[in-house]
Amino acid sequence: MPTSTLKYPETRNYIAGKPAANGQKQMEVRSPLDGSLISTVSLSSAKDLDVAVKAAEAAFQGWSGTPIKERSQVFFRYRELLAKNREELATLVHTENGKTMDESYAEVDKSMELTEFACSLPQLIQGELLEVSKGVECRIERKPLGVVASIAPFNFPNMVPHWTIPNALMLGNTMILKPSELVPISAIRIAELLKEAGLPDGVFNVVNGDRQIVEAICDHPGIKAVSFVGSTKVAKIVYIRASASLKRALCLGGAKNHLIVLPDAHLEMTASNVVASMSGCAGQRCMAAAQMVGVGAVEHIIDQMIIEAKKLIPGKNLGPVISKAAFERIIGYIEEAEKAGAKVIMDGRNPQVEGGAKDGYYLGPTIIDHVTPDMRISQEEVFGPVISIIRAKDLDAAIDIENANPYGNAAAVFTQSGGQARQVMERASAGMIGVNIGVPVPREPFSFGGWNDSKFGTCDITGKSSIEFWTQLKKTTTKWNPEGKTNWMS
Ligand code: NAD
Repeated sequence: MPTSTLKYPETRNYIAGKPAANGQKQMEVRSPLDGSLISTVSLSSAKDLDVAVKAAEAAFQGWSGTPIKERSQVFFRYRELLAKNREELATLVHTENGKTMDESYAEVDKSMELTEFACSLPQLIQGELLEVSKGVECRIERKPLGVVASIAPFNFPNMVPHWTIPNALMLGNTMILKPSELVPISAIRIAELLKEAGLPDGVFNVVNGDRQIVEAICDHPGIKAVSFVGSTKVAKIVYIRASASLKRALCLGGAKNHLIVLPDAHLEMTASNVVASMSGCAGQRCMAAAQMVGVGAVEHIIDQMIIEAKKLIPGKNLGPVISKAAFERIIGYIEEAEKAGAKVIMDGRNPQVEGGAKDGYYLGPTIIDHVTPDMRISQEEVFGPVISIIRAKDLDAAIDIENANPYGNAAAVFTQSGGQARQVMERASAGMIGVNIGVPVPREPFSFGGWNDSKFGTCDITGKSSIEFWTQLKKTTTKWNPEGKTNWMS
């Protein structure tokens, strides 16, 4: 098909304020809604990256030398542009990622909130000053690092780039964004809106590609820091490779979030929260419920979950998963669990899709009971609208099950007992804890980040904690009184 007839003709790189030459290789971009070809994307080379790094280096001096209060004016305007273009941006997310329009609007709204936080950074990053000897002052200021890179996954084409863009740029850095090659289109629109908001050319650049470009980012001597969001397997590779070339690295990986449900939990609230957590964005969220650990007699809650899950209609309020490969992988996990003795009590393998989209990658909500911790489905990230239920005899056993899994993004407990909730808050081995909340994403200004195999590197990726990651401290000692007595400590 000639690329000019596609819905979004060829997705190019975006360098120094304009679309840049394509890399030599192109890849197809298909919509998960119906499998249709919607664009092509450039698979850039290390040479293409070099052009972007040079543009970002050229822009750094001017941008980092602009007072932060002036930089914030760009982001106030940008936040308004996100609001003005909300429908178009959400439609883009819906088309390239497949999530529902409601979920896509929520993603853009979260990007606005992240930008609002960045606008508040001038109030948070003032330095320190002290007269340490007569007439001698020490001061500490936060300075940007230089050119930084942000590597993003497919599951939030608009929001995850906003975890890094507003804060890193507001703090004076210039950036190369590498979006997922599965969903590259939103990133270009973000670049155009930043320019419209008044961001100088070269401060923000987009370089598309796959593994090869990620490796080139890790190795490039002009890039000072790398943030990564994606699977644990790749997070480890990127963390090790970027660190080996002496860069600062913060790499967020996958998840296997455990929701511990006690028999005294509020029935309707718990069932609706657990089901929303496992099925939102078709289960393709790093904060999604992957396993429910049912403590004791929780049949009534499982029955109510089935009632809730039946309200989810693929094609209406449940989107498809990202690709045919993802669809087949998820089916494989369900089949293997069934063979190993687990019981599929709600089966989404052959769903009726509203609107009749035949070629979309749809799965219905799937609930699998009597899963045991040794099964593969219990140990690996499934990343689809599927929840496993593991039975535990008491709260201690449930917490042990949560603790034994190698990930540590989120964990939650559902109960009416403050004492039991407190035990989970204390002992769960995860970075983000929910009490009667299925998706415990901390909202701004609280920071986002997991533990264990869900994050490599120090600092969180958003909120106040990210300030530390995107800046370095400059310590200056001044003396303007030559007549003042000095000692060896100045
Ligand atoms: P992924 O790891 O396959 O890809 C992420 C990025 O890495 C993409 O830009 C991709 O081009 C690149 N990449 C892929 N393979 C690579 C390789 N071998 N070497 C170098 N780069 C490579 O992840 P995905 O499938 O796009 O996203 C889903 C994953 O992201 C899930 O595991 C999910 O839990 C995770 N995720 C985590 C968080 C979090 O906050 N912890 C948030 C969102 C998504």
